[in-house]
Amino acid sequence: DATATPDHIAVSDRWAAHNYHPLPIVLTHAEGAWATGQDGRRYLDFVAGYSALNFGHRHPEIVAAAKDQLDRLTLTGRSFHNDQFGLFCRELAELTGTETVLPANTGAEAVESAVKVARKWAYQVKGVPDGAAEIIVAGANFHGRTTTMVSISTDRTARNEFGPFTPGFTVVPFGDIDALRAAVNPNTAAILLEPIQGEAGVVVPAKGYLADVRQLCDDTGTLFLADEVQCGLARTGTTLALDHEGVRADLYALGKSLGGGLMPVSAVVGRADVLGALKPGEHGSTFGGNPLACAVGRAVVRLLATGEFQERSRELGTYLHSRLGELEGVTEVRGRGLWAGVQIAEGRTTGVNVSEALAGRGLLCKENQGHLRVAPPLVITREEIDFGVDAIADVLG
Ligand code: PMP
Repeated sequence: DATATPDHIAVSDRWAAHNYHPLPIVLTHAEGAWATGQDGRRYLDFVAGYSALNFGHRHPEIVAAAKDQLDRLTLTGRSFHNDQFGLFCRELAELTGTETVLPANTGAEAVESAVKVARKWAYQVKGVPDGAAEIIVAGANFHGRTTTMVSISTDRTARNEFGPFTPGFTVVPFGDIDALRAAVNPNTAAILLEPIQGEAGVVVPAKGYLADVRQLCDDTGTLFLADEVQCGLARTGTTLALDHEGVRADLYALGKSLGGGLMPVSAVVGRADVLGALKPGEHGSTFGGNPLACAVGRAVVRLLATGEFQERSRELGTYLHSRLGELEGVTEVRGRGLWAGVQIAEGRTTGVNVSEALAGRGLLCKENQGHLRVAPPLVITREEIDFGVDAIADVLG
């Protein structure tokens, strides 16, 4: 029957690869901090696309920029110039206090591009013998799902039966500066870190650690690569998460909210001399830097330049953390700004599918390995935070 409403869950189960286990909800609309299901139920969004929706769903200025660009020019490839690309690069560099922008599409692609550039730089500038460059990464990292990014993962599920893996990486525990010092050697091209680890459960390193990493890099001629795909772009209350520590990376990988919640847009931003290791023809992407992506990215940069979202994250983040910290059944609340890893007391929710129970109370929030990751859109209000925290309190109680 062509007129019947399709059972989207059944269609997806039959025709899509089963590489996720989504909640049994079919979303059809969303605006701001709220999403609506096919059955008309509304849900407050405490996931925000894992920080891809920092400005909320369909922010009017971002949608308007995309619509305007759709009527003019969408895709050219980088074999030609377009009237959005250079301006996007300049505006993003100015916003982040960096010099040069390398466009890409996804987070994994941006991090992997930063790794490629760091290797080139090590051979050309540092004089590391070709093929010998090493990159040091942190345990419990998450940098994406490409073969090289899972090569550096310490998560069995992410790696199992996906080898052989890309060589040239050393893993040390996150937050352990002595382990980093011991691992750095003359062939080390870079240290790659998430300044706050997202997928690991919003893990903030001890104060001073990131400054010590910077110092170690300076002392040894090593690049500091910051993966700010999830923690960057106002999520923690500053444009870049490293800003909290007054620390600068040599290259930053940005993604997620750079696409304004509309489309994949990512970039590596950083030092001109480091990105200058790339020569024409050595690296690229069909869609990276396309006019539509750049128009959306420019709208994102305009919103961030107001400072309004960073401020909301700081102010409402303090409120969010204080409310979550009072909950029974919570052993720890980690994070910064409107971003929290909420550790649930052992045995508290045995036999309960926490994510489904929360959805039943009108809240989208995923439980993972005993913790909730709370990351609402930064447009959320205090009353909406109350609604979400009350739902969590209900389920944990
Ligand atoms: N880096 C970090 C820190 C991330 O959190 C993610 C996504 N969760 C990625 C990289 C990968 O981004 P994408 O899914 O767009 O490839």
